[in-house]
Amino acid sequence: MMNYLRPTFLLLVSALFLVACQSDQSSQPSMVTEPASSATETQVAFDNFSQEFIEAMLAHSPEWAIYQGRYENAGTMTLPTPAQRASNLDFLTTWLEALQVFDPADLTDAQQSDYALLENTLNARLWYQQDFRSWQWNPASYNPARTIAVLLNTDFAPVEDRLRLVMSRLESVPAYYEAARQNIDRPTTEHLDLAIVQSNGAFSVLNDALIERARASELSATEKAEFEQYHTAATAAIKGWIDYLATLSEQWAGRDDVRSFRIGEALYEKKFAYDIQSQFTARALYERALNEKEQLLIEMDEITIDLWPKYFSDTSIPQDRFERIGMLIDHLSDQHVALEDFVPEIRRQIPLLAEFVRENDLLFQDPEKPLVVRETPLYMRGTGAIASVSSPGPFNPGAETYYNITPLEHYGPEAAASYLREYNHWILQILNIHEAIPGHYTQLLHSNLSPSLVKSLFGNGAMIEGWAVYSERMMLEEGWGDHEPELWLMHGKWLLRVVHNAILDYEVQVLGRGRDEIIAMLQNEAFQETSEATQKWRRATLSQVQLTSYYTGYAEIYALREQMKANLGDEFNLRDWHNEFLSYGSAPVPVIARLMNR
Ligand code: ZN
Repeated sequence: MMNYLRPTFLLLVSALFLVACQSDQSSQPSMVTEPASSATETQVAFDNFSQEFIEAMLAHSPEWAIYQGRYENAGTMTLPTPAQRASNLDFLTTWLEALQVFDPADLTDAQQSDYALLENTLNARLWYQQDFRSWQWNPASYNPARTIAVLLNTDFAPVEDRLRLVMSRLESVPAYYEAARQNIDRPTTEHLDLAIVQSNGAFSVLNDALIERARASELSATEKAEFEQYHTAATAAIKGWIDYLATLSEQWAGRDDVRSFRIGEALYEKKFAYDIQSQFTARALYERALNEKEQLLIEMDEITIDLWPKYFSDTSIPQDRFERIGMLIDHLSDQHVALEDFVPEIRRQIPLLAEFVRENDLLFQDPEKPLVVRETPLYMRGTGAIASVSSPGPFNPGAETYYNITPLEHYGPEAAASYLREYNHWILQILNIHEAIPGHYTQLLHSNLSPSLVKSLFGNGAMIEGWAVYSERMMLEEGWGDHEPELWLMHGKWLLRVVHNAILDYEVQVLGRGRDEIIAMLQNEAFQETSEATQKWRRATLSQVQLTSYYTGYAEIYALREQMKANLGDEFNLRDWHNEFLSYGSAPVPVIARLMNR
């Protein structure tokens, strides 16, 4: 999982998309596209256009810029007012028209894919604002503490300069929430509750420690006094916002005309097309996932039958396949680390994974950029993800990349015990492959080496998640874990979960299936622990489409590799294939497929 619930009302993408890493540029392409000497006038013009558009976006949305690692306008907070939406509409339509002056047929292949990404980005943002309108019904999209936390935690300038930017944003917080209140119209109760949790999380950023930090800095006495004054007003505004949300939550609870969190088929297909950029429709992907589920169950059942005598010499094997697979998984899940060893064990495994990738020559790794394992900051908790990778954007190559782990104690003793079984001896390895090496961390590192800033900045979530899921299976195929059948069985369970993410998202958001049915399916047919199944239901009520990205990307990447392997025969080299695949940045898989098959 990359931990992101996309705030959709503004020009925001998740802060968690991109990693910055350029320390070994000698063997890699440079960041900025140099037009080849044979480039036509149009091709040169298109590169200029891309650069201008990116600069305009950075100026237009200081928040988006902060997440990407550019801070020129970081002191200016965008207020979610009607005037701002009008300006946004104007910005998007103007740039879309300017883009469409180019004929893609006149561009290079790489530029054509940039064109496709830019067009999708602009159209998607228009659609989010005009049609999806979550700025009206999702109060969790308002959280000014997120950008403030980035400014405080990213070491891009002397602390006093960063505190001045924070101070300037704090000054706008009361007006920000005033505008947000005007926007809220029939919120869903699920998003109201999420907003209350996350807004309370803002106090892990705005608190006495921040005041102390300002006092201890070299700000002038006047600045320090102002800082405290704005901080006090901002804190009061957050409290007022939380009270307002609590009142709304009470008003709407149990009413017949409350807005459903289910977006329905029409919006879902559109959102799927914009967010995933797949070769499939949402419906087709759903049907594909149902087939994959059956295939996986057949394979897992074969392993179960083989392993049965090893673990259950005295118990006869059940007739029902779900029962026997479930019993073996349940038995194996007893093998897990102690609660207090959860984070330390993750720290221990990261260098072992890097070494395996190096020894087996699986892809390029940058030895200069270690991954920093840390406990998930409080303001980022609350969406249900245990692990995530977060990092600054491609403009800020010096900053740290974090592997965030939520300590299981956070969930209470009962849920923690359940999570330990879920993230047992085998699954914990797969989690680390997925999140870190060679999953998200490695992919995002390559993404920032990509010559296309467009692909680095407007990355495709399905490609990013799909790569992480692909990397799990690839590592096992290459011998991580010595082809141990138990690891393959657990991988089957993990992949089944990914497949179910796609299935349940469609069933919840489009087909209207209910909580009990979904949780029963996850427990009985995907062998998930109660805590995991319950959290997944919660997530499926709070986000839409994002849960399908893992499976869509995985299915497309794996199919592409197998197809090219068959075409190239003996000339196929896995390391080269991985490096080339990753060199296109976080572009949609169908776009990469077209470029690789040139
Ligand atoms: Zn992921």
